Amino acid sequence: MQRGGGAVAGWLDGERCEKTTGRIALGAAAISFFLALALLYLRSTNQIPEQMELGTWLTSGAYRIALNFRADAPGLALSLVGSYFSLLVAHVCVPPALQALLSTPDNRMQGLLAAGHVCAVMGYWEYQPIVESFHVPIVVTGFEPVDILRGVLACVEELERGEATVVNAYARAVTREGNVPAQQLLKEVFEPVDLAWRGLGTIPLSGLGLAPSYRRFDAAERFETAGLVSSESALCRSGEVLTGRLDPRQCPAFGKECTPDTPLGATMVSSEGACAAYYRYRHGQ
Ligand code: SF4
Repeated sequence: MQRGGGAVAGWLDGERCEKTTGRIALGAAAISFFLALALLYLRSTNQIPEQMELGTWLTSGAYRIALNFRADAPGLALSLVGSYFSLLVAHVCVPPALQALLSTPDNRMQGLLAAGHVCAVMGYWEYQPIVESFHVPIVVTGFEPVDILRGVLACVEELERGEATVVNAYARAVTREGNVPAQQLLKEVFEPVDLAWRGLGTIPLSGLGLAPSYRRFDAAERFETAGLVSSESALCRSGEVLTGRLDPRQCPAFGKECTPDTPLGATMVSSEGACAAYYRYRHGQ
């Protein structure tokens, strides 16, 4: 905060002939910052949904400008435009990761379910070259149980027909093009970077970093984190789980050293992870 305040003050110093404008800008930045902070707190404690409309900014004729808040990548990008704080960015891009996984010599994946919430923003046009290159069907799938079943069914039908296309089984939320304004905003604020994936290693251009014009918000640069290194548990075999080469139950640490309360790898951390799902539904095996 101190450094952030100093930088803002530095910008204002550069506009001595515009003191009033500078004070208004500083006040607006502070209000945006504290508003974003309060909303992030409410979201983290589940007091508000992931997306909500805060109200109407103004109406003019047929136009209405609404104030919305989303606690995802586009939402953070919007917050960045209006407020001043540091971001430790860890967003990932799905298509480069899929290409890397499908390119592994011992790949066993025959079909993929694409996450519907990602496709609601990004669309599914990026998957077309992947199904053509690897001849593996990709089905855009929602998260309700019936959506998952519909996605699995569509994937099995593709395989039985010997086809490999992109199927949209979540048409009520996803279009081929996706949310174009959100994509443009992401493009403005972020740029592709190489990213180290837990269990998989570094995949070129599979992550998002802040674009040069927004890099002053980057916590990794601002707080000098370059020397920090993360390490993975030697017991964890999540890379094999992620590539379909290992059933989570075959991992010696499954249910012992590694549980959802004491996760050793990414696939046990997330409730959507394969290891966590096998652990949760292990009863009755
Ligand atoms: S059970 Fe735990 S340790 Fe084993 S692969 Fe899964 S996340 Fe890694």
